[in-house]
Amino acid sequence: MKEIKALKGTKDIFGDEMRKWLDIEEIIRNLCDDFGFNQIRTPIFEFTKLFKRSVGETTDIVNKEMYSFVDKGENDITLKPESTAPVVRAYLEHGMHAEAQPIKLYYISPTFRYEKPQAGRQRQFHQFGIEMFGTDSPTADAEVIAVADTLLKRLGIKKVELHINSLGGPECRKKYNETLKAFLYTKKEHLCELCKERMDKNPLRVLDCKNEKCQSELIGAPTVLDTLGEGCKAHFEQLQQLLTAMGISFIIDPSIVRGLDYYTKTVFEFISNDIGAQGTVCGGGRYDKLVEEIGGKPTSAVGFGAGMERLLLVRDAENKEAVKEARRDIFIGYRGEEAMVQAFKFINNLRQLGISAESDHLQRSIKAQMKYANKMNARFSAIIGESELEEQALQVKNMDTGEAATIPFTQLVQVIQNLLSEVQ
Ligand code: ATP
Ligand code: MG
Repeated sequence: MKEIKALKGTKDIFGDEMRKWLDIEEIIRNLCDDFGFNQIRTPIFEFTKLFKRSVGETTDIVNKEMYSFVDKGENDITLKPESTAPVVRAYLEHGMHAEAQPIKLYYISPTFRYEKPQAGRQRQFHQFGIEMFGTDSPTADAEVIAVADTLLKRLGIKKVELHINSLGGPECRKKYNETLKAFLYTKKEHLCELCKERMDKNPLRVLDCKNEKCQSELIGAPTVLDTLGEGCKAHFEQLQQLLTAMGISFIIDPSIVRGLDYYTKTVFEFISNDIGAQGTVCGGGRYDKLVEEIGGKPTSAVGFGAGMERLLLVRDAENKEAVKEARRDIFIGYRGEEAMVQAFKFINNLRQLGISAESDHLQRSIKAQMKYANKMNARFSAIIGESELEEQALQVKNMDTGEAATIPFTQLVQVIQNLLSEVQ
């Protein structure tokens, strides 16, 4: 039988790579705690119509990237291609709109999109994201951006730029769509087929086209910022004022329109130049119409999604030594059957106290056991043989300094605890 391999665009995470994931996940949990966001876990699949209705029928995601299937009960189901819509669904389904607002949630979730796999682009990837419901105050936009900014700072990532823009509310959008459409008509022959199609249905999507030829035609296009009404303009200005006060630098960039339909007012991206073409590590914005679209009362909201794989790539590029190597506290080797029982008794006692202890499971020679202890990067090591059993004492060696001391069996646990508190 031919060997079965993992699907294209998916990855196993293990070993050193896994430690980087656990480290970043811990940083994210602490970060969200500091900013008052609570974790939510929604199912891996949802009814397809949830995404069609929220993400938008003319977006790349719904058009060509969703993993959709019909299950045995003939339900149309889709593996989540993003998590905002599921979180909104949960917010409504559990009556969170009736609690004190704002509701602040975060997730770290597998995400599925049928795309062409390349560096920083997979078919199953992971997103860390946050959502803040129940306020349209620019302070919420600023707080959401501050979460991403603080995360990047805590990860030691410096070479990332924050680009912000405002798409305005429905009124400004309508006005802008007309202006933009008029401009696009003057370029019609030069745009790709898809853009020609999008022009009428959703002209904003044209600005997001990945085709270079289209992008060059778009130079000089009217920007949404020119058509913002008073209210939206003031909102955008207040956001800028808050960001400046928080020490978060930004670039106003009218080309940021985001790939999803549900955004209103603020949109933003954190972009790195360090990881090649897939440089957007985090994208988000305000989506004041989405909750209503999914069946709730009008509720303002703002959030972002950040690609975990891309965060890890940027962190690696800038800060290679960020995650320390794995260490075990102590390895206790043995020679002979009686010593083996003693060794396993000791390591079990140590483990009960939260000390990471190991021994040998392969009947290795003493020399090979010490080599193994080195390989696992043990802080301390000890060997139990006949003479140790006789004297009821063993030699504990500090593997970093080479220092050694003889310790009675009865004091071993206590002494190891003390030694560890000194070296850690
Ligand atoms: P892109 O323009 O790179 O396709 P997007 O606009 O589709 O990104 P979003 O839907 O905003 O991306 O998702 C938020 C973040 O998730 C992105 O900024 C990126 O870091 C990450 N991301 C999106 N698609 C993928 C993917 N296929 N593989 C890995 N990470 C991804
Ligand atoms: Mg995409």
